[in-house]
Amino acid sequence: MEIYFDNAATTMVCKEAADAALSAMTMEYGNPSSLHNKGLEAEKIMRRGRESVAALWGVKAEEIYFTSCATESNNLALSGAVKKGLKWGDTVITTKAEHPSVLEVLENLKSEHNFKLIYIDLLKNGQPDMDMLKKYMSEKIILISMMHVNNETGCIMPVREAVNMVKKASPRAFAHSDMVQSYGKTGVSPAMLGVDFASVSGHKIHAPKGIGALYIKNGVSIKTGIFGGGQEKNFRSGTENVPGIAAFGAASEKAMAEREETNKKTAEIKKYISNSVLSCLDGCFTNGESTVSNILNITFTGLRSEILLHSLEARGIFVSSGSACSSNHPSPSKVLTAMGLKNGEIDGSLRFSFSGYNTMDEAKYTVKVLLEEVPKIRKFYRG
Ligand code: PLP
Repeated sequence: MEIYFDNAATTMVCKEAADAALSAMTMEYGNPSSLHNKGLEAEKIMRRGRESVAALWGVKAEEIYFTSCATESNNLALSGAVKKGLKWGDTVITTKAEHPSVLEVLENLKSEHNFKLIYIDLLKNGQPDMDMLKKYMSEKIILISMMHVNNETGCIMPVREAVNMVKKASPRAFAHSDMVQSYGKTGVSPAMLGVDFASVSGHKIHAPKGIGALYIKNGVSIKTGIFGGGQEKNFRSGTENVPGIAAFGAASEKAMAEREETNKKTAEIKKYISNSVLSCLDGCFTNGESTVSNILNITFTGLRSEILLHSLEARGIFVSSGSACSSNHPSPSKVLTAMGLKNGEIDGSLRFSFSGYNTMDEAKYTVKVLLEEVPKIRKFYRG
């Protein structure tokens, strides 16, 4: 048996996306910039992909710029916005919940340019401290970057409220949201959040790795950091990843058609695992309030999550400790630290993340395994 509960790290490619990619690789393989029919064929595939990604997000097709991943989307949006804004302002605001592809970019920009970088604290429930945000309002704010859904806890952040506050104080400020964990799940569009830029990634919604997109609101312009042949309206040069775009489009169409059903299913699985663990095992608690239905973060005190993760793996269950996307950095989760968890608690935290391919039978088996493994592992814990 193989149970994949690590869908916030990446997902299995769905058949519809794989078929679309295969067709674009073997049939419509032309370069979309070529003037002949093979080029036009590829261009048509790309147009459909763009329309499908835009439709799932509730934005216009011309507001979608394809990239290689959300990390690239975050890099391009943040560096373009900061460099433009520095002509008139001096403050950038973000939160302690952000993914490294936001935090590292901002730190890097700060090391090269002179501006104030404010990190909004997290409350115990995983939400940003909006009172702290209020204190930093000024007309010198260049940019706010606040993710919509946190990848470790699943917390849905009050982006709209934060953006309204910032734009009221500083009307020229840009707003960016990393919507990687929100896209295809929440039904919230960048327009609903009031942001100028938003980033997404195909591999979180059953498309392959290597394709992402950046939403840039119509009428907003920033300079690119990638120069060359002028593809993607001169914003992101490089021959387009037509198979990736075709697959991203197909996965978006599927996600849109199945969103309600998928959310219902993942909510049931999440509730079952969460309720069973909390009622049958002592010393466990969930992390985060106002969370999406597909992410569940549980702290099992009195054990190291890495040991539990490998015990689950040995029984065919795949989960994550902390953020899989930053597992190159074995330091304690910055998000859980910012939420005030103690080191021992962070060390005992696991993330279960679900998709529409998961079943209640998988949830029941996982609970059975957890009830067997957790007490065994706790016996050898030295703290
Ligand atoms: N932002 C968030 C919230 C993520 O969860 C991830 C990946 O896990 C990324 C950004 C980076 O996405 P990509 O792998 O497409 O670069």
